[in-house]
Amino acid sequence: MIEIKSLHKSYKTGSTSLHVLKGIDFSVKEGEMVSIMGSSGSGKSTLLNILGILDEADEGTYTLDGVLIKNLNEKIAARYRNKFLGFIFQSFNLINYKSALDNVAMPLYYQGVKRAERLDRAMHYLEKVGLAEWATHLPNELSGGQKQRVAIARALASDPKVLLADEPTGALDSKTSYEVMEIIQTINDEGKTILLVTHEDDIAHMTKRIVHLKDGIIIDDSPVKQQRAKTALHV
Ligand code: ADP
Ligand code: MG
Repeated sequence: MIEIKSLHKSYKTGSTSLHVLKGIDFSVKEGEMVSIMGSSGSGKSTLLNILGILDEADEGTYTLDGVLIKNLNEKIAARYRNKFLGFIFQSFNLINYKSALDNVAMPLYYQGVKRAERLDRAMHYLEKVGLAEWATHLPNELSGGQKQRVAIARALASDPKVLLADEPTGALDSKTSYEVMEIIQTINDEGKTILLVTHEDDIAHMTKRIVHLKDGIIIDDSPVKQQRAKTALHV
């Protein structure tokens, strides 16, 4: 599903250049759930932004579902993002003046789906994350965990090939983090390919494989004996 080879990325500001990714190779098969783990500043978000076609590498190749991602203009990049990818962020990135349901329906608007079907499909995904009763509520009427569940429903609404999550539990307490991780695990059980960035060891261990990033290179890439999220509902 994802294949990257010899990826390099530097940030240039004025006369200085910061070499952040120093030759990254890895691939992700369809249906995998992988975490990219590393300390703050190790280049995790930089890598995820490249995988999300939000940024481009300086060197190396990136192939997504057989498509070489290179030198795309913004229009094509946006089309590929919409077609292939769903995003979840630490800060949820919901639209504050739109209801939970309308937030989830947004990606479908950009895909040209008609309003009635948009709302139908959005409701289906809100039900999936257990928030059907909150459909008409605004984001500021929801808890952090609920907001992230809305964001997960939104990421799923367009049925993307890959779900990319950048520190999805970073703004949540540990109980809520586990609840969100349990939903993400369920989505993976149903077959979705998921890449998750985290600096937290226990979150990474809820995925099936950990790619450990340090100083811009992968220092370890191994399968883990996946721990199921234990939510308060189960203990
Ligand atoms: P992580 O997500 O692992 O914390 P990042 O990929 O965000 O790390 O950042 C890696 C390094 O690149 C950090 O030193 C950060 O300050 C720097 N960096 C990130 N984005 C930019 C940018 N747009 N311009 C310049 N430097 C950046
Ligand atoms: Mg980051």
